[in-house]
Amino acid sequence: MEIKKVAVLGAGDMGHGIAEVCAIAGYEVTMRDIKQEFVDRGMERIKQSLLKLQEKGRVQNPELVLSRIKPTVDLGEAVRNADIIIEAVPEVFEIKTQVFAECDKLAKPECIFASNTSTIRITELAKATKREDRFVGLHFFNPPVLMQLVEVIRGEKTSDETVNICVDFVKKIGKVPVVVKKDVPGFIVNRVQAPAGALLMAIIERGIATPEEVDATVRRMGLPMGPFELMDFTGIDIFYHANKYYAKAISPDYEPPKILEEMVKSKNLGKKTGKGWYDWSAGRPQIDMSKATDKINPLDFSIVEINEAVKLVEMGVAEPEEIDLAVKLGLNRPFGPFEIAKSIGQEQILKRLNELAQQFGKKIFEPAETIKAGKLMQLIEKKEKKEEKGEEFKTIKIEKLEGGITKLVLNRPDRLNTINPEMLEELDKAITMLWNDNETRVIVITGAGRAFSAGADLTTLITHPFDFLEHNRKGERIFRRLSEIPKPVIAAINGYALGGGLEIAMSCDIRVAKKSAIIGLPEVTLGLIPGWSGTQRLVKLVGISRAMQLALTGERISAEVAEKYGLINKVFDDEKFDEEVIKYARDIAERCAPISMALIKRLVNKGGEVPMDIGLEWECTAAGICFSTEDLRKGISAFLRKEKPKFKGR
Ligand code: NAD
Repeated sequence: MEIKKVAVLGAGDMGHGIAEVCAIAGYEVTMRDIKQEFVDRGMERIKQSLLKLQEKGRVQNPELVLSRIKPTVDLGEAVRNADIIIEAVPEVFEIKTQVFAECDKLAKPECIFASNTSTIRITELAKATKREDRFVGLHFFNPPVLMQLVEVIRGEKTSDETVNICVDFVKKIGKVPVVVKKDVPGFIVNRVQAPAGALLMAIIERGIATPEEVDATVRRMGLPMGPFELMDFTGIDIFYHANKYYAKAISPDYEPPKILEEMVKSKNLGKKTGKGWYDWSAGRPQIDMSKATDKINPLDFSIVEINEAVKLVEMGVAEPEEIDLAVKLGLNRPFGPFEIAKSIGQEQILKRLNELAQQFGKKIFEPAETIKAGKLMQLIEKKEKKEEKGEEFKTIKIEKLEGGITKLVLNRPDRLNTINPEMLEELDKAITMLWNDNETRVIVITGAGRAFSAGADLTTLITHPFDFLEHNRKGERIFRRLSEIPKPVIAAINGYALGGGLEIAMSCDIRVAKKSAIIGLPEVTLGLIPGWSGTQRLVKLVGISRAMQLALTGERISAEVAEKYGLINKVFDDEKFDEEVIKYARDIAERCAPISMALIKRLVNKGGEVPMDIGLEWECTAAGICFSTEDLRKGISAFLRKEKPKFKGR
């Protein structure tokens, strides 16, 4: 089933953002709330947000996006023709089940029901309907327009088909899905964080340190906000209710302390009421950094989170790499718990967990079985070995589509798909794989999330000039091989293509771009030069004058300007980009003969490097090769019969 129409229930903080994201991706959306004023407010918030996105060049036509959203207070009208319903009404079990039970009667039988609940079990919500197999959790993060992660939660009866459709849908709206394989309280991101919250409360309850001392200590490590300031920012009530729920659903160790209960009762809810842990009446509180203390160890918060992450793996909720990805994207952190665990080490983690469990009398801090058994590093190594064996790519993704199209996705969305040595290695392997893959007729290279690739990963550790030279040579060779694959390669530039990102694109045969894509070679502004064949290919594509302008100034240009320069072949509207790219690739794969394409690529690429006479000789020889193919006979007879040819590459 293909999702075309989306109904979003609730036009509040999350609902309006989810509706906006779906409309930007080109879906027809209905957004429903219970009162006209709520719907109107939601539409106004979407309008304001779209204008901001337009300023940043991320949306071209706000009016067009807005015209795709139909606001309504009528539930029947909202869900009648919907293929998916995304519920974002208040976090109250009875309200949600009542809404879903009503929708069950009004929506078409194949419509998928999704809840954006932060805490309630999907399995329990699904019971309010007769379509438990088509019921799923889609947990967006706030604000949905900016946050890339969506947890796709499988309830006990959710079918594989429903999960697959939702994973695909999440990708189509430009987000990164992580499947939560078991319906556990807190899912992945909130669950991993939960014990750190309990530790914060225990520290305050026992008077070990004050909120300001904790915040100053944590901020000294370079974090922009301390945990108590953050709690005030998001709302004390939200933290309180989540912990009340965890106390019931996971362990009484999560029971919030009296002080938190009193704050909720007296409506000291943080920023929104002007007072929480801090006074917000005059704006953001000033944290006295001299209060940083060694009465607490900030690493303890990471250690209890690592412990919880390991427990999630043991419960079969997700794999370590999925948890790292979810935590990084859901919390905007540079590292996931398993990445941090590697640098702390098994021994220290085990020792500290035992100490914390004893000191605070909390079972939730007791080490997970894997850690107790001394097998944490094995768990991390297993993941790394799996990747080394090439069973699975980590920094890129290969997706086979119908009609001989293979998509190669640069897949480090949390780092704007910047190219690190691992990605180079994986690209090398993928090129060999696709070169030899007879099923692949056309290759499309694109980026996950909002960038194609923002260039080389500048955090890559290279300590010697000679190593840097070799690193450059390696990239140049890999990109050369990319340009030599004997089938057409299309770079589908879906966002930033800067430096190394543009150099990949220039090594492809055809470049198509989203209208909002930004293109440039910023190396000169960093004290570098465009490597990986950047200077050489650019001249061939746009001529010396334009090449000088782009490489010497580091200027960034829009897709439309790049099209005028001859750097981009086609520009597609943002909203229909993915669809148009695949349509274009499929058209080439259907109409064009594989051997002809392979020969043309060689002639065009190499022909320019030799005297014309020799190039023309090659051309004659290549024509001779075509003459002997089965495909030539098929092509000509299909042409005469006005049919579509079915080329075999023989
Ligand atoms: P909110 O209070 O801002 O919005 C809820 C909206 O739902 C309100 O406008 C309300 O009028 C409307 N509503 C109430 N009953 C309705 C009904 N029967 N049909 C349609 N609309 C109805 O709340 P929110 O922050 O947007 O949260 C919505 C859901 O998303 C909750 O389940 C919450 O746990 C979850 N969530 C919130 C966040 C967050 O940070 N705010 C993050 C992830 C998930």
